[in-house]
Amino acid sequence: MPTNQYDVIVIGAGLNGLVAANYLAKAGKKVLVLERRPIAGGQAVTESFGDGFQVDALHAGGQLRPDIVSELELERHGLPKSTTEPLISILPDGRQLRLSADSGAETLASIKAVSARDAERWPEFVAFMQEAVGFLDAAYRTPMPRLPEVSLAEGWPLANLARRLRRLGARDMFRVIRMLPMSALELTEEWFESEAMRAAIGAVAVHGATLGPMSAGSGYTLMHNWLNRGGPGHVRVEGGVGRIADALVAALNARGGELRTSAEVKSIVNDDQRATGVRLAGGEEFAAPIIVSAADPRHTLLDLVGAPELPPEFVWRTQSIKMRGSVAKVHLLTDGDHGAPKGVLMIAPSLRYVERAFDAAKYGRMSTEPYLEITANGRVVSIHFQFAPYALRESEWSQERAVLERVAVETAASALPKLKSSIREVRSLTPLDLEKTYGLTEGDLNHGQLILDQMFFMRPMPGWSTHKTPMDNLFLCGNGVHGGGGLSGASGRNAARAVLKAV
Ligand SMILES: Cc1cc2nc3c(=O)[nH]c(=O)nc-3n(C[C@H](O)[C@H](O)[C@H](O)COP(=O)(O)OP(=O)(O)OC[C@H]3O[C@@H](n4cnc5c(N)ncnc54)[C@H](O)[C@@H]3O)c2cc1C
Repeated sequence: MPTNQYDVIVIGAGLNGLVAANYLAKAGKKVLVLERRPIAGGQAVTESFGDGFQVDALHAGGQLRPDIVSELELERHGLPKSTTEPLISILPDGRQLRLSADSGAETLASIKAVSARDAERWPEFVAFMQEAVGFLDAAYRTPMPRLPEVSLAEGWPLANLARRLRRLGARDMFRVIRMLPMSALELTEEWFESEAMRAAIGAVAVHGATLGPMSAGSGYTLMHNWLNRGGPGHVRVEGGVGRIADALVAALNARGGELRTSAEVKSIVNDDQRATGVRLAGGEEFAAPIIVSAADPRHTLLDLVGAPELPPEFVWRTQSIKMRGSVAKVHLLTDGDHGAPKGVLMIAPSLRYVERAFDAAKYGRMSTEPYLEITANGRVVSIHFQFAPYALRESEWSQERAVLERVAVETAASALPKLKSSIREVRSLTPLDLEKTYGLTEGDLNHGQLILDQMFFMRPMPGWSTHKTPMDNLFLCGNGVHGGGGLSGASGRNAARAVLKAV
């Protein structure tokens, strides 16, 4: 085989690209992964911003699906242990809700301090959420047919999924179906009487989404986030979230696959509507009969393939994929005396507070009283900031960085009195940085909003949920397609299966 010839080329070394590449290499394919950044991991990177400033750049926690970990033998390739940390919601009077899915004594005592009734309901709520996310997980694993034409072979996995739902029993089956279109407000009002509990769960529901807790469909995003976070808190990987990508790269190399970093794909080469290779920004070309893209669908189809190569209606649908990032990050290098506890510290004192924070984004403004999630790792404190819309109506991100940093620090300091005096350096990532540095169109971390009309057989768009595209031999595997978003790797594995079935 000529040196630039492969069986499969994967564009993008985020977790989904690396998962897909591993499954394809495991099946005996000669695989090349091309990544535009100097490091692999995509959004799940641990990187250095300067001396002593090593951070999980975008989010501190994450886990691949356990079956992907075992099928790809990632522990043998260096995947470290991880631990589950609680969600700690700071209440206006200084008390803390400490929420873990294990319903341990600490969790129950902290809930009891705000409402004895809510503490009683928590174990039942957790059990219901486990049922709900079990179903969602099964749905993400199930290949979605290309509606409305469903062959018997495509319909079979769906029938299995319906049976899985039925096995929940009548009461939980209806509760799960009902939860999907509900708002987090309606859902939490049914479960809890205290504002503190409703707000904590409502905020988890909108983490990473451009939705408020009063938006329809935030019931679905609660299910999605609970699944990906492993409960209300998060799963922290020893040594940083970047170790997941390190293990995937080691596994890929061991299977004979190759990764090239600092290799930005500029175009997907085709011969009469059949993808045959890629061209890099520097002009170098690589050939393969199968191209799999982990970059977002809009970038892949409109920038790398190009509208003239695609049917006009498909182009219009691709342009219409809703991508609306509204998350920013602020990292603080401190002297270590910041006072942040272990876990995910949340500032979301009431549902109304979170909804108001979202209101700002609706009108193209950054929230002045944002919902925050704060995590600490050694001397670094990282602030996840919502809402910071990609498109500002009356300003530009180049003008707003200092405001973002000030609002983030002031708000975080309301819960962490020692924080301000401990700060030595600040680095922030605006939604524009997410686009420019991390390749996320409109700063959308899910490569397309997780909303009801962009889920399951409508992801990335109706009629195209099978990972295929109108260009023969070009497949999509990133978190903008069925199984994504999130760190689970599900869309990467689903796509690899679709490729192996097609060849
Ligand atoms: C602030 C923040 C918080 C988050 N919180 C959570 C959370 O709590 N739970 C959770 O599960 N998920 C969370 N996520 C989302 C999660 O990180 C992503 O869903 C997941 O990492 C996506 O993986 P991916 O491989 O599909 O895409 P990405 O990680 O986006 O990878 C795509 C890769 O393709 C590369 N690429 C793009 N274009 C090209 C090109 N032309 N040529 C070569 N390479 C290219 C990019 O550089 C990138 O490396 C969060 C994300 C952010 C930003």
